[in-house]
Amino acid sequence: MRLDLLKMPNVRKAKLWEPISGREGWVVCNLCHKRCPIAPGKYGVCGVRKNIGGELYTLVYGLLSALNIDPIEKKPLMHFYPASSVLSMSTVGCNFFCKFCQNWEISQRRLERGLLGFRVTPEGVIRKALELGVDGLTYTYNEPTIFIEFMIDASKLAKREGLFNTMVTNGYATPEAVDELGSLIDAATVDFKGGGAREFYLKVMNVRDPDLIYETILAMRDKKWWIEVTNLVVPKIGDDPGHIKRMARWIVDNLGPETPFHLLRFHPDYKLMDLPWTPVETLERLAEIAMEEGLKYVYIGNVPGHPLENTYCPGCGYMVIERKGFLVTKFDLKNGRCPRCGYKINIRGEYRGTSPGFPISAL
Ligand code: SF4
Repeated sequence: MRLDLLKMPNVRKAKLWEPISGREGWVVCNLCHKRCPIAPGKYGVCGVRKNIGGELYTLVYGLLSALNIDPIEKKPLMHFYPASSVLSMSTVGCNFFCKFCQNWEISQRRLERGLLGFRVTPEGVIRKALELGVDGLTYTYNEPTIFIEFMIDASKLAKREGLFNTMVTNGYATPEAVDELGSLIDAATVDFKGGGAREFYLKVMNVRDPDLIYETILAMRDKKWWIEVTNLVVPKIGDDPGHIKRMARWIVDNLGPETPFHLLRFHPDYKLMDLPWTPVETLERLAEIAMEEGLKYVYIGNVPGHPLENTYCPGCGYMVIERKGFLVTKFDLKNGRCPRCGYKINIRGEYRGTSPGFPISAL
């Protein structure tokens, strides 16, 4: 049985684990802050890392559950290569158990129950990316940290071909994992939920210490990744203005006031079907609080057509980028500056205009 499993191409020796001294055959995985102690023959809580004979293996190397072209704005990354296109990919499994997960069919799927996915190689992914003419790769839909081994190999090849790499993450990777990714990752969307409140994370997501996410963001900052922060506002149980104030203050103090911040609307899904959609007024009130704390680029997400989908110049208020959903409908910058007042808009990477299905030309 052991030999059969190890022969499978999706099973590879894992990174970032060590034996536990005094516990014969046990290992601890140091990839995310859960730091699972794993007995021989057992899985970590993400369900895709297994202790086989006293060594830790990933079971999802090149075993994808999805591969799609997306506009970068969908991640959301609003200030990183605007209107570019990315090849998005995921595996099954996740280290979080969010009761509202929109992608629960892949994130909560466990390999031991049978779903695998389709096999690809890092070379195959890059070939597909070049054939499709995308600008970069994004590791997303489930928590990409849990498939770091594949992410690293694909990212190395992507870099060689001039593609960028981004990830959408819940921020629970350890600083060691961020270190392992190093300069291979160019940008990250770090997704908080419920204002990062401890009781919310415990009750709704089975996560003990959301404050560790801030530690991880600092590690990302030190690697010079482009960072945009999102927060899912869940009505009634995760919409406390005090938590948004605290989060916004932390971002201003640690990442700077020009960091894009997104407040995302919740919609009922998976096990949280009894809650309503987040009222737009709630999102607007929280956006005001974030701006009062000093954040200059605050967005409201999942409300197509809302004025806070656009980018306004912090210097004079002129709308420099207009969006409709994930579509960029106007891009009016001169050498990265507001054409009216000359304020330098904080954007990394140039406008690409390759978003799938939305061809527009820059002004
Ligand atoms: S990546 Fe998986 S196995 Fe490793 S610590 Fe996190 S949940 Fe546990």
